[in-house]
Amino acid sequence: MPMFPIQLFDVESSTFTYLLVAEDGRAAALIDAVERHLQRDLLHLERLGLQLAYVLETHAHADHVTSAGQLRKLTGARAAVPAGCGIAAAELQLEDGDMIRFGSGEQIAVLHTPGHTAGSVSYLWRGNLFSGDTLLINGCGRTDFQGGSAAALYHSVVDKLFTLPAATRVWPAHDYHGQSVSTIGWERAHNARLAAHSEGDFVALMAALDLPKPRLIDIAVPANRLLGLRHGV
Ligand code: FE
Repeated sequence: MPMFPIQLFDVESSTFTYLLVAEDGRAAALIDAVERHLQRDLLHLERLGLQLAYVLETHAHADHVTSAGQLRKLTGARAAVPAGCGIAAAELQLEDGDMIRFGSGEQIAVLHTPGHTAGSVSYLWRGNLFSGDTLLINGCGRTDFQGGSAAALYHSVVDKLFTLPAATRVWPAHDYHGQSVSTIGWERAHNARLAAHSEGDFVALMAALDLPKPRLIDIAVPANRLLGLRHGV
């Protein structure tokens, strides 16, 4: 039986938050929760009668503050984060190949996919890939800060994510064009930045982007290293 995440959206930062519900209908996990939607997310958990087992981050975000620390306090969930992101406050520091288990038999596989940031990971659950800012729909995340590397992102996507089955659904951390979900098959064939590009072309394309510094980076990254709790945990 295919199972889908519940996709939630923050209009201000165009961030997707994903609620994963176990087949038993009781246990849940949240990926990339946003501070300003804490109440919305708590209401979803209450409305659906869910016990939050994990709050997960795909990376230390530069454009919004996470609610992972507050969610952990309020629900008893455990925080799981990529080991390479400097988020020391979390219970679980995730490495490539790790498996997170929740509910009765749910498994979330951890794939280290550096490039947007050095520590970025993607998560794979029941044929659903949560690709963070590594792979976006018809695009990818920027690679010019937080240890980012266009060459590393190219290899993360082409060698790792594009080798997943074509039907794998792609759920990105952001979308700025009103899109919500794609598949590995579509992105492998049609992604404007990564399909049919050599590594050299891609690195040159990313170097030419010349993007402005994110407005919130100096606030958001230090806060997110504390799971969003600005005054410590
Ligand atoms: Fe990001």
